[in-house]
Amino acid sequence: MRARELGPGTRAVHAGLPEPRQGEPFLPGPAFAAPFHLAGDVDSAPFGYQRYGNPTWAAYEAALGDLEGGNAVVFASGMAAVAAVLLPALKEGDALVVPSDCYPGVRSIATEHLAPRGVEVRQVATDETEILGALGGAALVWLETPSNPGLDVVDVRRIVDAAHGAGAVVAVDNTLATPLVQRPLDLGAEYSVSSGSKHLSGHSDLVMGHVAVRDGERLEGLRHWRGLTGAIPGPFEVWLAHRSLATLAVRLDRQTANAAALAAALRARDDVTGVRYPGFGTVVCFELAGAADAQAFLASCALVAEATSFGGVHSTAERRARWAKDAVSEGFVRFSAGIEDTADLVTDVLQALDRSRR
Ligand SMILES: *Cc1c(COP(=O)(O)O)cnc(C)c1O
Repeated sequence: MRARELGPGTRAVHAGLPEPRQGEPFLPGPAFAAPFHLAGDVDSAPFGYQRYGNPTWAAYEAALGDLEGGNAVVFASGMAAVAAVLLPALKEGDALVVPSDCYPGVRSIATEHLAPRGVEVRQVATDETEILGALGGAALVWLETPSNPGLDVVDVRRIVDAAHGAGAVVAVDNTLATPLVQRPLDLGAEYSVSSGSKHLSGHSDLVMGHVAVRDGERLEGLRHWRGLTGAIPGPFEVWLAHRSLATLAVRLDRQTANAAALAAALRARDDVTGVRYPGFGTVVCFELAGAADAQAFLASCALVAEATSFGGVHSTAERRARWAKDAVSEGFVRFSAGIEDTADLVTDVLQALDRSRR
């Protein structure tokens, strides 16, 4: 049976593990090396120097490739993965369509590094009509769906078909959805990009990223870029990420149930407005009256850590406007549901809202 036909929980547990061998561990430990023994011909061993490859990455990349339905290249961070797609792909005179509401670092690469080199940067909202209207003559379309922090959703397949018709390739930042929920390569995108610092590793203890592709030339291009720029993760972090992948499906199940319960509880309150929850996923956004109300709420939560990022086993939340990078109101809260018991989490959030009410 091919692993891709198995259920998501099964695939996550088995992805990238070696064939069982008597007396060997399930997941071999991290391989620490700068050079590897390499006598004679440089092609005579799979690994020669850590910056170009490592058995620990190879196992994790096999796992990610299995979940993505393609070939994965692991990077030092989500932003290293983003840069590996955007920087080599675009040259002077090309046009890039990028969401105005996507991860701020992606927009900064576009405006601070691509635009000054003559790339036309078209920023449009995560909205099908707007994106379709911006495709003419574009070389690359960047999508993030659900978007972050607005949690807007677009039909990837529809945009991919139109983009291909216009001669553009498509990259999807799939960090929020994860490949267990949405597989951009199956939907026709050329690149599936993710931060591994969020759901994929899920324990708020490491920073990582990857890109998955199907085309062999793109795969070689990404590996070459990683080797040249040295945007490589350490083997211990990769091993931790691979270990954490086994629980991805069960973490997502609980986190999604918690997020849905929170969204319902928040919608029932008159002191909370603009509850955003696309019906799946682990992140809920909502608005309180202002910055002071949002900060008082965050300070009143006992089980919810005030921290940025999302996707971890511990519930976290933050007032998003404190970063001044997203077009959101002062009282906008992005809430990442963890794996706590649902009743405990909802009770804590409701008591914090009551206590912080002025
Ligand atoms: C966090 C994030 C990134 C960047 O990833 P890092 O691992 O922090 O470098 C990119 N895109 C999205 C949607 C993210 O949430």
